[in-house]
Amino acid sequence: MTLSQEDKKIILNSIRDIPNFPKPGIMFKDITTLLGDPKAFDTLLTHLEERYRSYNLDYVAGIDARGFIFGAVLADRLNIGFVPVRKKGKLPYTTVAEKYSLEYGFDEVEIHIDAFGENGLTEANPSQVLLIDDLIATGGTAKAAANLIDKVGAHCVEACFIMELGFLNGKDGIQAPVYSVLEID
Ligand code: AMP
Repeated sequence: MTLSQEDKKIILNSIRDIPNFPKPGIMFKDITTLLGDPKAFDTLLTHLEERYRSYNLDYVAGIDARGFIFGAVLADRLNIGFVPVRKKGKLPYTTVAEKYSLEYGFDEVEIHIDAFGENGLTEANPSQVLLIDDLIATGGTAKAAANLIDKVGAHCVEACFIMELGFLNGKDGIQAPVYSVLEID
């Protein structure tokens, strides 16, 4: 299901550019204005719902923190479960972790070991999971999150982003297919 140019514009125009945040040289893509615009939010979620309805997904996994918003709404629309991939130290039960590099140092994301269910999670029949976040830049965060889904025995069917900074080629490092609603140059 392709998104019309008109709907693309509605979504794109609802996202605010904040120059030099959180540090000089970064153009921050602020999705709070999209969330506050019911027409843009509905246009986006209806598109994602139509796209993923035929995928026979079991779960949507959202990346901390903006991926939670889109992921939870989409999971509810698809009548499937939502799983948070969180920054280190936030999840209360037993977790599996994955480190990834930042410009300076590293960061770490975690997932609950039983996030995709202990029943029906066999090598022959892994849970089918859609990974979602607001934006892919270098792809480090999404790659780590996709690895976590594999590590706990599920299958990352696709990684979905509202925006992709195409010039950083972040999707190249992700094994799963990548779908981005908007490509930003
Ligand atoms: P990366 O691991 O480099 O792909 O960075 C992706 C993560 O950082 C996502 O969770 C994004 O929300 C956030 N992020 C990176 N760059 C930007 C940006 N220019 N505007 C908004 N969020 C960003």
